[in-house]
Amino acid sequence: MRNVLITGASRGIGAETARIFAQGGDRVFINYSKSENAAASLQKELSECGHYAVSIKADVSSSREVNEMFERISREYGGIDVLVNNAGISQTKLFTDITDDDWNTMISTNLSGVFYCCRAALPYMIRKHHGRIINISSMWGQVGGSCEVHYSAAKAGIIGLTKALAMEEGLSGITVNCIAPGVIATEMNSHLSEQDISVLKDETPTGTIGTPKDVAKAVFFLASDSSSFITGQTLGVNGGFVVS
Ligand code: NAP
Repeated sequence: MRNVLITGASRGIGAETARIFAQGGDRVFINYSKSENAAASLQKELSECGHYAVSIKADVSSSREVNEMFERISREYGGIDVLVNNAGISQTKLFTDITDDDWNTMISTNLSGVFYCCRAALPYMIRKHHGRIINISSMWGQVGGSCEVHYSAAKAGIIGLTKALAMEEGLSGITVNCIAPGVIATEMNSHLSEQDISVLKDETPTGTIGTPKDVAKAVFFLASDSSSFITGQTLGVNGGFVVS
């Protein structure tokens, strides 16, 4: 049974990813920072179906909390075989309105969090000579999103981190890849009006927006043996919105 940690798994893409791994027979760790009830309810849902799920609190923007989370997992379960760095926040603002706090919160959550989790996960993976890291970036990290400069910068940083770490860990049997979702129907996009969604659908070659399951299935593939020769890559799950 693999140990799979999904950061930010209390809802949205992370929760659906936890479901797919749990249904595949893995032990899933449902990380959250604030949404304790949602994480507990997902743990209950999965446990009642006979799956192995553990919810675990840690703010990924804190290296101390991340290290404590990994120490607990290491003590009680050995270590993490598959790390999915999914936790993230978004904010829409004109560039000139972005404050120091906005910038620092965005970078520490969306980029430093990935660094802290990878750093804490790797020693066990290196010892086992096997591991899978999947980082959730965004199509805005590939092409840039207007009024989301800090978000886009953090997500582009994840792509750079992924490429470099994949180079470093190739001989250690560890693959490191990114997924760059397009517009996905989650709470993160709940501020969009029906008209906004309709425009986004029109701009997408498939004529649809994505579901959390679309992303979760791609994560599951990148964590499987079928993807062992794929590393350092960014897979767009975006209905063709961005073609790279
Ligand atoms: P969401 O529904 O808002 O869920 C975000 C998750 O991240 C929640 O479980 C939240 O839990 C967790 N989280 C936030 N800050 C955290 C922190 N400091 N430490 C630990 N967990 C934290 O968002 P989503 O749409 O599923 O997005 C998931 C990922 O996909 C994000 O990285 C996002 O940038 C990326 N993405 C989303 C879209 C989209 O269209 N939805 C597109 C491209 C990329 P708490 O409430 O407990 O903090």
